[in-house]
Amino acid sequence: PGQLTDAEFARRTPVEIKARLFANENPFGPSDKAKQAIIDSLANSYQYPFMHLTDLEDKITSYEGLGKDMILLSAGSSPLLMATAIYCCKDGGNVVTGDPTYDDLPKSAEKIGAQWVKVPLTAEYKLDLDAMEKAVNANTKLVYVCNPNNPTATAVDAEKLRAFCERVSKKVTVFVDEAYIDYLPDPQASTMVGCVKNGQNVIVARTFSKLYGFAGLRVGYVMAQPDMLEKISRYTKDQYAISAPALYAAIASYQDKPFLADALKKTLASKDFLYKTLKEEGYEYIPSVTNFAMFPLKMDGKRFVDEMMKRGVALRNWMVNGKDWCRISIGRMDEMEIFATAFKELS
Ligand code: PLP
Repeated sequence: PGQLTDAEFARRTPVEIKARLFANENPFGPSDKAKQAIIDSLANSYQYPFMHLTDLEDKITSYEGLGKDMILLSAGSSPLLMATAIYCCKDGGNVVTGDPTYDDLPKSAEKIGAQWVKVPLTAEYKLDLDAMEKAVNANTKLVYVCNPNNPTATAVDAEKLRAFCERVSKKVTVFVDEAYIDYLPDPQASTMVGCVKNGQNVIVARTFSKLYGFAGLRVGYVMAQPDMLEKISRYTKDQYAISAPALYAAIASYQDKPFLADALKKTLASKDFLYKTLKEEGYEYIPSVTNFAMFPLKMDGKRFVDEMMKRGVALRNWMVNGKDWCRISIGRMDEMEIFATAFKELS
């Protein structure tokens, strides 16, 4: 409640940011292959990149083992979250989500008149799938499952989520947002793409914005049944908003395993340093499976974020169960060191 969006937060930023740790970006990307593809693409960028949309779609669907018509691309996944909210909630109803979770989709649904049903997380700050299932009623139009969850950086058990999708999707569309799945040790074992493959009423969203390092380039997609994608596509034309350089870069770097493994390794090293810093200062944290982490604060959240910002460190604060928390994105080691120095001054 009252949470600023990343864009609003960025606009308010009055000082030079030395450690950019507020938007869960990957400072180790984009990859060299992606950057080279952008340079190579410039000469032909007077052309609309129609054909290359299909090339990227084919690359992704063949990797995932899906039919060619089971993907919809977009300039980042955000426009697809919004289009899904509009399609599912245009006649009202409600959206069931965890709380706290990534609020973009349910907020869009609220704006067009739907109700947002918030289901508290478990004691381990994970999505409470049983309670979410119970919260589904005759008015529910969509269940939004953010796994791993933003802002808590926790993931639910894949088998449990698979069983949940199978049961719940018989009643209502289940939207699984896998923006951070690439940070898990075995994304293919954790994804719900299998539910889409089995013909279930499940939509899986992915983005290049996180481990691929494309937040500023803008490429994302959803995978679902072709008839569902056709309905969602009525509410967005955003696949044509993907620029040729972004598209070529995505094609060049999709499943570039050495790059992904290296970015993950650097993220884990920075995360270990963060954990060490927090422990030294007597702070707890929620163990994170992603490129961000949450820890409870010992002072007012807004004051903490303002004080850190004065020191050039951009972070986000959250209220969870009436308590102040900080969400910190995992940056480069030099950024984490800047964070640690400022944090030690304050704590
Ligand atoms: N889903 C989740 C869980 C996110 O955290 C974000 C961005 O932070 C997005 C979706 C949207 O990302 P994008 O539009 O860059 O693909």
